[in-house]
Amino acid sequence: MDVVVIGAGASGAMALRHLQGKSGIRSVVAYERAGQAGGNWVYTNNTGTDSDGLPVHQAAFLGMRYSEKPLGCE
Ligand SMILES: Cc1cc2nc3c(=O)[nH]c(=O)nc-3n(C[C@H](O)[C@H](O)[C@H](O)COP(=O)(O)OP(=O)(O)OC[C@H]3O[C@@H](n4cnc5c(N)ncnc54)[C@H](O)[C@@H]3O)c2cc1C
Repeated sequence: MDVVVIGAGASGAMALRHLQGKSGIRSVVAYERAGQAGGNWVYTNNTGTDSDGLPVHQAAFLGMRYSEKPLGCE
């Protein structure tokens, strides 16, 4: 069986990983409409739509920064 996974976010990546090498799976490939894989976890400061006119979902993360210290200890 040839499998096509639609979307290369976290779920698509897990599906790809899970299906690779499985018995009965001849090939597995992901089709991603955005410019890169990662889905919601692609960090960008962009808002609105991307160069293909697709909505940018990452605006909710605008201003979020990661720290190696626990909250309140920065
Ligand atoms: C504001 C916000 C905050 C979140 N915070 C957290 C958090 O802190 N921790 C957590 O674990 N989860 C969080 N989530 C949940 C998050 O959605 C999941 O962690 C994870 O990103 C879901 O992965 P996914 O692959 O299902 O979806 P997505 O990450 O949305 O990936 C879907 C992918 O499919 C692509 N796609 C869609 N339609 C098509 C199509 N027709 N053809 C080709 N490609 C297509 C998209 O471009 C995208 O790359 C948050 C979600 C939101 C919206």
